[in-house]
Amino acid sequence: MKYVFGIDVGGTSVKIGFLNEQGELLDRFSVLTDTSNHGDNILFDIANAIKAFIKEKNINETDILGFGFGLPGPVHNDFVVRCPNLGWDSVFMPEAFSAAYGKSVHVKATNDATAAAVGEYWQQEMNDDMVFFTLGTGVGGGIVINHKGVDGVHGAGAELGHIRVEHKHPIACTCGLDGCLETVASIRGVVGITRRLIKENKLETTLYDSDKLNPKVIFDAAKNNDPLALEVVEEVADYMGLACATIAVTVDPKIFLIGGGISNAGSILTTAIQKHYLKYAHFGVKDARFELAKLGNDAGMYGAAYLIISDNQ
Ligand code: BGC
Ligand code: ZN
Repeated sequence: MKYVFGIDVGGTSVKIGFLNEQGELLDRFSVLTDTSNHGDNILFDIANAIKAFIKEKNINETDILGFGFGLPGPVHNDFVVRCPNLGWDSVFMPEAFSAAYGKSVHVKATNDATAAAVGEYWQQEMNDDMVFFTLGTGVGGGIVINHKGVDGVHGAGAELGHIRVEHKHPIACTCGLDGCLETVASIRGVVGITRRLIKENKLETTLYDSDKLNPKVIFDAAKNNDPLALEVVEEVADYMGLACATIAVTVDPKIFLIGGGISNAGSILTTAIQKHYLKYAHFGVKDARFELAKLGNDAGMYGAAYLIISDNQ
């Protein structure tokens, strides 16, 4: 039996999946993401955790086919252009991870959201073109066309979180631009909209501005018909609907899949996104479906592993 590691590197933690070559997730563990020193320790921490796991489980190194990575920034041909969330600039993953691991190993890399899109597509045995969003600390995108994740010429091919959706009152984004989808549909975005509405004091609500304000609290309130929380859902869904309508006339996918921590909100969110989408969508793309991702936070690990598995098929 041969094995693969699928490694999903996030801004706060790294999820590491141990899969067999058939794509079954056999085990998993995680390490915290150390973003100090421009994220210089991250690959060493991952390598050490994997080596400890291999030793503990008595795995033969020659049975390991390779290490697939999903990373939160544009990645092209295994080269990470830049990851503001990690502090990385210009990292060639095969070289960098081999150095951290202490020997030359087989490494492939892609964007984290593209990995998650491919993970869902593969595990759900999908066949049609699809677009995936991960709504969390950042807003990531993945586009699968003709069974392949799109990364474009610079690796920024599906950076859907940086589509500009707000012109009149744009908020600064981590990417250096402003008005990006990420500024209104990420955790920070959802909480920010809520804080603004609380301050405006026009709608009744049980919510108040505290450190505990987070998407779960807000969407739970919306499910209990809290007027202000319902307005937050409408605003976020309006921006998402607009972005999806723009993407729809570019790639015309069958499905928009919504994942990431914020998607725990469930169908209240997808239903609202679809409603706003229909306001903006061209007649040719009106019947696109909106669904929740099924693998939750595991999608990225699967997709990262698939980079190696598909390489060996
Ligand atoms: C980054 C994307 C990433 C997303 C989710 C965004 O801020 O620009 O590359 O996919 O966060 O991690
Ligand atoms: Zn941006």
